[in-house]
Amino acid sequence: MPELLKNHAMMLEKITYATQAAAATQQTTLLAVSKTKPASSIRTLYGAGQRDFGENYLQEALQKQHDLADLGIIWHYIGSVQRNKTKDIAQHFDWVHTVDRVIIAQRLSDQRLEKSPALNVCIQVNIDAEATKSGCMPCDALELAKEIQSYPRLTLRGVMVIPSKAGSDAFARTKALFDEIGAVLDSPDWDTLSMGMSGDFANAIANGATIIRVGSALFGARD
Ligand SMILES: *Cc1c(COP(=O)(O)O)cnc(C)c1O
Repeated sequence: MPELLKNHAMMLEKITYATQAAAATQQTTLLAVSKTKPASSIRTLYGAGQRDFGENYLQEALQKQHDLADLGIIWHYIGSVQRNKTKDIAQHFDWVHTVDRVIIAQRLSDQRLEKSPALNVCIQVNIDAEATKSGCMPCDALELAKEIQSYPRLTLRGVMVIPSKAGSDAFARTKALFDEIGAVLDSPDWDTLSMGMSGDFANAIANGATIIRVGSALFGARD
């Protein structure tokens, strides 16, 4: 079996194991982060049943979507969203994990095509309040969530974070924030905690992650 398929099968087992070890009750979806990796690798994983793929770079993603148009892939945008890129993102993805300000949400909603279902979005929260990282501050997340809920072409699903370092309590703080906002919004769509990557997915699952974003543990190191 090719390395990629072995890694994938092993990752699915590790998710099951981490879920059981932590007695976690949520389902966790594996988002395969395929940035810098070729379309052929995505096709291989699709053949093994993988449906959700995450991309960070718009032009690269559009090319892969073109090459893989015959497949029923669920495309997630997980890169930072520049204002002048919102139209392509709104029209070519199923999910955006990285909405961190009102103007971006507004543009994504305005530019989502009528014929498409509403775009699934998560609020990226800068959970460790790092100066150099994108994401809204934790204290601003509720306000932003309320605003996004009013946009007709978006479905607000939850929160996405990239903690500053492994092993901190950032995932637990994110879960607490997620629950706090959820109690106010009272929406059945508020169901997504996007957190955990190759190095810390088990800890994320233990803290309630419903989507883990895994790149190098599947595809190998990036150049
Ligand atoms: C690249 C990337 C990942 C995957 O990281 P790995 O450590 O390779 O698993 C996850 N989330 C985001 C936002 C990324 O940019």
